[in-house]
Amino acid sequence: MEILLNPGPVNLSERVRKALLKPDLCHREAEFTALQNGIRKKLLQVYGLSEEEWAVVLLTGSGTSAMEAMLISLVPEDGKVLILENGVYGERLRRIADIHHIDHLSQHHQWLEVIDITELESNLSAGITHVAIVHHETTSGRLNDLASIAGVCQSKNIPLLVDAVSSFGAEEIRFSDWNMAACAATANKCLHGVPGTSFVMVRRDAMGYPHSRQRSLYLDLDTYLKQQDAGGTPFTQSVQDFYALDEALSEHSDAGGWRQRRSHYREKMKIIREGLQALGIKPLLRDTQVSSVLNAFHLPEGTDYKTLHDGLKQRGFVIYAGQGELARTIFRVSVMGAITVNDIERFLTAIKETL
Ligand SMILES: *Cc1c(COP(=O)(O)O)cnc(C)c1O
Repeated sequence: MEILLNPGPVNLSERVRKALLKPDLCHREAEFTALQNGIRKKLLQVYGLSEEEWAVVLLTGSGTSAMEAMLISLVPEDGKVLILENGVYGERLRRIADIHHIDHLSQHHQWLEVIDITELESNLSAGITHVAIVHHETTSGRLNDLASIAGVCQSKNIPLLVDAVSSFGAEEIRFSDWNMAACAATANKCLHGVPGTSFVMVRRDAMGYPHSRQRSLYLDLDTYLKQQDAGGTPFTQSVQDFYALDEALSEHSDAGGWRQRRSHYREKMKIIREGLQALGIKPLLRDTQVSSVLNAFHLPEGTDYKTLHDGLKQRGFVIYAGQGELARTIFRVSVMGAITVNDIERFLTAIKETL
C-alpha cells in the first residue's frame, strides 16, 4: 500500500476501513440518529467541550464546505469580518467573503510571513465584529500563534472564526480561552477518517445573530443545527463516511486523544527533519514555527519536484508539492494517518535512493 505523506486524505487504519462495511442505512432511521448523535458527542469530547455551550454541525462535503458554512452563517449582515491571511487557506476565506458579499477587511501577508500583531490591533478598530484565521496554514506548515492573536481580539471582545481543518485533533485548541465562536474542520486529516465529511463546532450563543437573509440553502448552519439537535438531517449525509468517522473518533480517544496524536506526529516529524537535514535538505521554517502535522522543505539543489515525487512514488511514498510560486522551490511532507515510525524510516531510505 502507498504511504500518503500528503495533507489528507490519509492512510486509514484497518479498524476505520472495516467500519465502511457496516450495514446499509437510511438517514431517516433511528440507527442513523444514534450514529450522528454519537459522532457529535465524540467531537465535543476531543477538546472537552460542554454540550450546553457548544454544538457540532456535521456536513457532507470537504473541509472547504465547513469553512464556507462557518463564514456565511456566523457573520451577520451588519457584521464585518477581519480576515488574516498568510497562505492559500487564509486567501480562500477572503474568496468566500467576496463571493457572498460579506463585509470584510483583509490583513494580507506573504505566504511565509508571520501575522503582524500591531497591524492586527490597528485593524480591529475598523468596525470589526469577527476575526477569521487559519490555525495551521498548510501552505507553509506554519502554526499561526492563535494565543497571541486571540489575546488581542479578546481585549476588544471580538470572537474568532478558525479554520482548524489541518489542526483539529492534533494541535492544542483552547476554545474558551481564545474566545472562539466557531471552528471548521474535517474527518480526513488529523482525525484519520474518510474524505467527504466535515464539520463546524459552534458556540451556541454565537449562532443567535439575527439573519435578515439566509446566504445559502445547502450551507446554512442554522438549518443543520436545528435539525441535528432534533436527531435529523436536512439533506442526505454520507452514511458510510459517518461510520468511519465514528470509528476514527473512538480510535483517537483510545490512543489518548489530541495530546497523544500530537506527540506521535512530533516523533515522526523529528525523524524526518533530522533525516533530511543529514541529506542537506533544509526545512522552510524553524521548528518553533511549524505544526506537528506538516512541514515544508526546500527542494534539494538541482532536483525538481517532479523528479523527487516520481522517484518516491515508484518506491511507494506520496509527497506533496508547494502551491503557487512555491511549487518550484519546496515540497511538503505530512505525518497524518495510520503511518508508523518504521514507514518514516523507510521513507528516508527511499529519498536517499531517489537522490
Ligand atoms: C485541507 C485544508 C482545507 C480544506 O480543503 P478541502 O480540499 O476542501 O478538504 C482547508 N483549510 C486548510 C488549512 C486545509 O489544510
